[in-house]
Amino acid sequence: MPKYIMSLDAGTTSNRCIIYDKNGLIKAVAQKEFTQFFPKPGWVEHDANEIWTSMLEVMKEALKNVNASASDIAAIGITNQRETTIVWDRDTGEPVCPAIVWQCRRTADYCDELKKRGLTETIKNKTGLVIDAYFSATKLKWILDNVDGVRARAEKGELCFGTVETWLIWKLTSGEVHVTDYSNASRTMMFNINTLAWDDEILNELDIPKVMLPQAKQSSEVYGETDPEILGAPIKISGAAGDQQAALFGQGCFKKGDVKNTYGTGCFLLMNTGDKPVFSDNGLVTTIAWGLDGKVNYALEGSVFVAGAAVQWLRDELGIIASAPESETLAKNVPDSNGCYFVPSFTGLGAPYWNPYVRGTIVGLTRGVNKYHIVRATLESIAFQVSDVLGAMEADSGDHFSKLKVDGGASANNLLMQMQADIIDAQVVRPRSVESTSLGAAYLAGLAVGFWKDEAEIMKNMQTDRTFDPTMSETDRKNALTGWKKAVKAAMSYNGVQE
Ligand code: ADP
Repeated sequence: MPKYIMSLDAGTTSNRCIIYDKNGLIKAVAQKEFTQFFPKPGWVEHDANEIWTSMLEVMKEALKNVNASASDIAAIGITNQRETTIVWDRDTGEPVCPAIVWQCRRTADYCDELKKRGLTETIKNKTGLVIDAYFSATKLKWILDNVDGVRARAEKGELCFGTVETWLIWKLTSGEVHVTDYSNASRTMMFNINTLAWDDEILNELDIPKVMLPQAKQSSEVYGETDPEILGAPIKISGAAGDQQAALFGQGCFKKGDVKNTYGTGCFLLMNTGDKPVFSDNGLVTTIAWGLDGKVNYALEGSVFVAGAAVQWLRDELGIIASAPESETLAKNVPDSNGCYFVPSFTGLGAPYWNPYVRGTIVGLTRGVNKYHIVRATLESIAFQVSDVLGAMEADSGDHFSKLKVDGGASANNLLMQMQADIIDAQVVRPRSVESTSLGAAYLAGLAVGFWKDEAEIMKNMQTDRTFDPTMSETDRKNALTGWKKAVKAAMSYNGVQE
C-alpha cells in the first residue's frame, strides 16, 4: 500500500499541495500564489491556466520535498475555492475567457432581475441558496451571453463548464473525466439538492445548456486516474469537496449537530444537519456537506463578513496593535471592555440581520475607555457575531450543540477562544492541526481507496490542542448578550447610505 495521500488545496489566492501520512500528519507542503485580476470595480478574475500550472508545480515540489514518487501516493483529494466559474473547449482544453471568481459582483443586477421574476422561493427550495451573484449560475450565464460565439459552441456540446475542482480533475486526467462533487455542485445555484440532479427548470430560466455541465458524483469515490505523463505514473483521484465542507469533514464533524467555525478574515460556520436538508428561516444557506458511501450529508452554513478583518483594522487603520497576535496581549491588560461594544459591520451585517447598509459602530464610550478596552471589545465582537449565527442554526435545526470545533488563523487567540466558550456557553475545541480544509480532502480521498477504513479510524487521528470550557455566570452572559443586541440595534439605526 502506498504511504501517502496527496491533498490539493486550490484556494482563492494560492494553490497548495499537502502530503499526508496515515496518521493524518503533514509530511510536505508546497504553496504558490497566483495572479488576481480586477478589470473593473467589483470584478474579480483568475487565469484558469495559471491555476492549473501553479497547482502542477506545487504537486511536483511537494513530492520532491518528501522524496516520493507518484507510486507512493495512494490517492489525490481536492478542495477548492467554491463557486468560481470556468468554461473551456472540450477538444483543446483552452478556457474561453478568464475564470469569474466567487467574489465577483458583475451579475448583481441580473440577480435582482431573477428576484423580481419571483424565483426566490424556487431557488431556495431547490438549491438551498439565496439568489446571489456569489454562486456560479449567473456567472456562467454571463459568459454565455457576453463572450463571442460561446453560446452557439456550448449548445453544440463543444464547451465544458466547471468549478475549480472540475477543471483540475479534467486537466489531471487530460480531458478524460468531466465531474464535480455534490458539495461543489450545491454551490452553483443550478443543482437540485433534494434530487441530486441538475435542475431543468432553473437551467431553462437561465438559458444554460445542460450538455456543458459535469457529471455530479459523491465527494469520496474514484473519479479517474491522473494521466501517467503528468507525474510519471497514474494516481487515483478519489476525493473532492468545496473548502468549507472539506473543513467540516477534516474537523471530524461527521454527526448531525456537529458544528465547526473557521476564524479567518471572516468566519464560516457549518453545522452538519444529517441526511436531510434543513431550509433556513434565519438567512442561512442550505448546502450539501458531502456524498459518501451512497449517502448524502447536508449542512447549514452562515458567515460573518468581518472577523479577523476587524483585528487587521486595529492594526492597519488605527495602529493600536502592531500585529494580530498582539490583540490578545493588549486585551488581557483589562478585565473587561468597560461597557463598550464594537459592531464591526464595515460592509453590512449578514445572518441573522441581513442589512447591507449598516456601518461599523462603537457604543458605550465613557471617559475611562482606553485602547485596551477597544481591543477587547473587538475580540468580543467576533465571539458575539459567531454566537448570533449559531443561534440562527439552533433555531433552524432544532438541534442544540454543546461543542464548537474551531480552526483558521484567529483561532490561535486563546483569549478569543475563551470568550467564545463563555458567550455561547459551550465547549470550544481546537484541534492540533488547524489545516482542516486540506485534511478533509485527504480523508475523503483516502476513504474511497481504503487508505483509511472508515470514519472511526479517522477519528483516532484527531488530536486536540486545547479545549476551552465556559466559565461565565449565566447572569453575566445574559447581560453581555443584551448589551451586544442593543449595540447592533444602535448600529442598524444608522444607515450608511447617503440620502
Ligand atoms: P484567511 O484564510 O481569511 O486569509 P487566515 O485563516 O489566514 O485567514 O487568518 C487570518 C486572519 O486572522 C486575519 O484577519 C488576522 O487579523 C486574524 N488573526 C490571525 N492571528 C490572530 C490572532 N492571534 N488574534 C486575532 N486575530 C488573528
